[in-house]
Amino acid sequence: MQVITSIDAMQSLRYPQGAQIGFVPTMGYLHEGHLSLVEASQEECSKTIVSIYVNPSQFGPNEDLTSYPRDTERDLALLESMGVNYVFMPTDAIMYPCGYKTWVEVLELSKILCGESRPEHFKGVCTIVLKLINLVRPNRMYMGEKDFQQLTILKKMLQDLNLPVEIIACPIVREQDGLAKSSRNVYLNSFQRQQALCLSLALSQAQDAVQSGEVDASIVIQKATDTLQNAGAMLDYIRVVDCETLTDQILITKHSRMLIAAYFGKTRLIDNALLKA
Ligand code: AMP
Repeated sequence: MQVITSIDAMQSLRYPQGAQIGFVPTMGYLHEGHLSLVEASQEECSKTIVSIYVNPSQFGPNEDLTSYPRDTERDLALLESMGVNYVFMPTDAIMYPCGYKTWVEVLELSKILCGESRPEHFKGVCTIVLKLINLVRPNRMYMGEKDFQQLTILKKMLQDLNLPVEIIACPIVREQDGLAKSSRNVYLNSFQRQQALCLSLALSQAQDAVQSGEVDASIVIQKATDTLQNAGAMLDYIRVVDCETLTDQILITKHSRMLIAAYFGKTRLIDNALLKA
């Protein structure tokens, strides 16, 4: 496994002719969710490159940039044991050198849902992912449905900017009890960890209601809200949206996705699910 830390080394990296390059961008502190993306890439591509970079520009001023969990040694050992070909680990100084001025934003989609409480977040995500794509030059990029709005926004960015990269959306990997795996789960104390189960519970209750014939999104949202509030979650938002446009839906269709963001103490978690099988 080759670990690359400079722009020059990344730009001068030559892949074997005809190789399909699969790219998995991450912020490190890897868990099975990340590793499922690596596995998907390895199944479909001839070379897999993973980036580990905690991108400061996607964190708001009062967010957890400095406390974001990091364990590079463990991450590299895991990726090496999986047979990953390359890891790109840039620093802030090379990604955002003094005088950096260029930003990429997908309008509208970036300002709704998570964008309401994190107004600059997706601008930071789009900018760093575009920079990484330019450096890595992948054919395919593997991303989790866990961050569903991010996935939708990045698909739009690739389409609008005519980038020849295919996004492969991979399913959410969960703990045995249903909690979606997240690097931020480590912040939860044991009480909050138990409380946080209401996210997956609310989503599965919503799926059950739809399965039993409920088509009114407001009723499904109300039931899920009750579940979250009864567990003591501090709700940021809960919505039923069209999975392509992210616009609110009144009636549930095959394209309806429920998206939730909620706080457990200071920890903000997100989760989502397709409502109709
Ligand atoms: P992050 O390190 O949180 O920026 O995540 C890097 C990638 O891993 C993103 O594409 C996430 O959507 C994906 N990811 C994070 N958690 C999960 C999960 N539980 N299941 C599947 N993919 C995930």
